[in-house]
Amino acid sequence: MLLISCPNCGPRDETEFHYGGQAHVAYPESPNDLTDREWAEYLFYRENTKGTFAERWVHSTGCRQWFNMLRDTVSYEIHSIYGMGQPRPDIKVPGQSSQTDKPGEFTQTGEFGQTEPGLAPGAPTTGVPISGSTAPTSSEGV
Ligand SMILES: [Zn+2]
Repeated sequence: MLLISCPNCGPRDETEFHYGGQAHVAYPESPNDLTDREWAEYLFYRENTKGTFAERWVHSTGCRQWFNMLRDTVSYEIHSIYGMGQPRPDIKVPGQSSQTDKPGEFTQTGEFGQTEPGLAPGAPTTGVPISGSTAPTSSEGV
C-alpha cells in the first residue's frame, strides 16, 4: 500500500487516489497534420518503463486535483510529487541514472554463458532440479 502525499491534502492512503497514466504526453501541435498511425500513437502508445517513471494521479476521494508523481515502478518508491504543468524533476537514482552503470549488467549477461547446459539463463544452478528439464543426478534416490 502506498502512502501518497497529495500536494493539497497531505499524506493519504493509496486507495484515495486513481492512476492517470504517463505524465508529460504533449498534445500534438498540429493534430490535423498527423497520420492515423501518429494519432493512434499519441492516443494509445505509452512507455512501460522499468524504473523511475513520471505518471499522473488524481486525488479522487479528496480534493479531486491532478498532480504528477515520479515513482519507481519496481520498488514503488515515490521520488517526487509535483504539480501539473511543472517539468519533470531531474533526480539522480542510484543504479539507473546514467549509461555508465550499464557495463555491470553486461558482465552479468556474460556470466549466463557459464551456466550448466540445458538451463535457461538465470535458472538456479544448484538445489532442486527442474522437473523434466534435467537429467537425474547422483543425489537422487538417497
Ligand atoms: Zn488532495
